[in-house]
Amino acid sequence: MNILVINSGSSSLKFQVINMANEEILAKGLVERIGIEGSRLKFEPADKEKIVIDQDIPSHKEAIELVLKTLVDEKHGILSSLDEITAIGHRVLHGGEKYSESIVVDEDVKKVIRDCFVLGPLHNPANLLGIEACEELMPGKKNVAVFDTAFHQTMDPVNYMYALPYEYYEKYRVRRYGFHGTSHKYVSKRAAEILGKDKPNLIICHLGNGSSLSAVKEGKCIDTSMGLTPLEGLVMGTRCGDIDPAIIPFIGEKENLSYQDIDTMMNKKSGVLGISGVSSDFRDLETAAEEGNERARLALDMFVTRVIKYIGAYMTEFDSIDGICFTAGVGENSIEMRQQIAEGLKIFGVKIDEERNNVRGKDTIVSADDSTIKLLVVPTNEELMIAKDTVELTK
Ligand code: ADP
Repeated sequence: MNILVINSGSSSLKFQVINMANEEILAKGLVERIGIEGSRLKFEPADKEKIVIDQDIPSHKEAIELVLKTLVDEKHGILSSLDEITAIGHRVLHGGEKYSESIVVDEDVKKVIRDCFVLGPLHNPANLLGIEACEELMPGKKNVAVFDTAFHQTMDPVNYMYALPYEYYEKYRVRRYGFHGTSHKYVSKRAAEILGKDKPNLIICHLGNGSSLSAVKEGKCIDTSMGLTPLEGLVMGTRCGDIDPAIIPFIGEKENLSYQDIDTMMNKKSGVLGISGVSSDFRDLETAAEEGNERARLALDMFVTRVIKYIGAYMTEFDSIDGICFTAGVGENSIEMRQQIAEGLKIFGVKIDEERNNVRGKDTIVSADDSTIKLLVVPTNEELMIAKDTVELTK
């Protein structure tokens, strides 16, 4: 059973074909610059040479058409016919309050994705274009929508409401939704397997360019750090995370900025990039800090401190905790960050094992035997989670 996984962005489209019999990736790739001059397909079949196809790709339909053609190409392809694809799983950013699980796409589902354009203006329209292109190009095959917000829909109002006039929730559904849900779900399931416990209590730290935490109680998300949009919470690569909201009118007035300008500043020019002035990339920052760049060191320290504070706050939402999991680019790979975060949690009796922690990108327990809470590294795999949900819903 082969599943095509599609993550359709506004001008790019990532895909994987996964053989679900052994969870092997048969091919993966990326279409870049859709609708922009210089568009291309980068195609990586598992057992053949990588190729790059430069050609005009004016729309998402043409992008998927080219991907499908390449998948069955005699020389570079990996399938003899498109019949070998059982179903398609789509990453969709926002499912609003409607979906707490993945779902087979029909007209109602498309309407909800459309209704959520206002909540995910960059992603949801592109996600829908990907779905509609697949419906057109592969009629009869089932498309499954896997929402980034779904896993967090089990939160209680006490954690998802903002202390604003209630009417904004009623009129505009202003509330916390949370994102990276597919990653948090995958990691919570994997951690349950590693810990040998059916429904453990976990704090999951998805630390990458975009970062978020979730508190997962007996398999269900009870709290998460991202909010109405992915801007809230931790300090990120280019996003500010939590700030005093009064800063927005203050800076706006001083600098004569529009809401749009401020939104761009908080999303694209802030975070560790804004503080360091060096880079949004954590490896660059670690190098700069080692070379004595004080603002790079400050940015890294602020990032770590915010993670520790959030974990501390989430601890209070449990009677007991089985594990704290690290995932995504920084969480999986930065030995130093994990060490510092563990150090900041010593009041809870958390202890990291230096030798075990000397690992990158591998499922493993990195805490010391006498740590009160286990620390785990769990590489995330959102594509596999999407494919698993797709199999589950289409079998
Ligand atoms: P995205 O949110 O774009 O999916 P990723 O989860 O891929 O992000 O994380 C990217 C971040 O992970 C980058 O800032 C990168 O520097 C960081 N990263 C990757 N490897 C390491 C490493 N060995 N040490 C520190 N940071 C790393």
